[in-house]
Amino acid sequence: MRALLLSDIHANLQALHAVLDHAPAHDTVWNLGDIVGYGANPNEVIERVRGLGTTFVRGNHDRACCGLTGIEDFNPVAARAARWTQCVLSAEHIAWLRHLPQGPVQPLSDAAAPRCAHGSLLDEDEYILTAREAWHSLAAGGPPVNFFGHTHLQGGFATDGEQWYRLTPDYETRDDAETWELSLSSGARYLLNPGSVGQPRDGDWRAAFAVYDTARRSIEFCRAPYDLRTAQENILRAGLPDRLASRLKDGR
Ligand code: ZN
Repeated sequence: MRALLLSDIHANLQALHAVLDHAPAHDTVWNLGDIVGYGANPNEVIERVRGLGTTFVRGNHDRACCGLTGIEDFNPVAARAARWTQCVLSAEHIAWLRHLPQGPVQPLSDAAAPRCAHGSLLDEDEYILTAREAWHSLAAGGPPVNFFGHTHLQGGFATDGEQWYRLTPDYETRDDAETWELSLSSGARYLLNPGSVGQPRDGDWRAAFAVYDTARRSIEFCRAPYDLRTAQENILRAGLPDRLASRLKDGR
């Protein structure tokens, strides 16, 4: 079984289209949240992802944009984008966002199957940025392979029980579609982040995603170039903050 992992699309329709065009063969789609917020096409993105599969966890922007939680904790740019998104979302899409499940969820029935979360396995709003935070999330036990998003940084962490390792894909180009495959060891435990489809922050502007293969026990981290200019123009035309358009070209 091959699962396409999508996270942090953030209403970037052009990036989502590129990901679906470039994605290797897969049987299912697991979505790790923050479908909306920041980008200019929230209704179109929700429409598209709803047609892709049934496995979702909610992100903090999904909650804020449907009014489930307030925006007091958001920085001014994120808060402005969340208010704009609330105004343009259809009533049906707001209702759909409100029913997204809190992570972690386990898409397969097998107890050893992977879990999917937005933040950490313990707290949907926690950022896993260090090996210490990864350890904290995995210390309670559970399956060996776990997926998360929220940081917008592709890669993750692994432990063999003694050492911790930071995993960062090593790509050859800056602008082409690329894949970097990692074989998972049977004795190790993993927290893996497919990266952000719509607003990468790891210095690479290309849309990020991943494919997990249960039979081969491998993960393919992928990047795909997308129509950046249209995504930026849509943000500016919508009256969203300029910074949300400019940051996309730097992947920061
Ligand atoms: Zn996000």
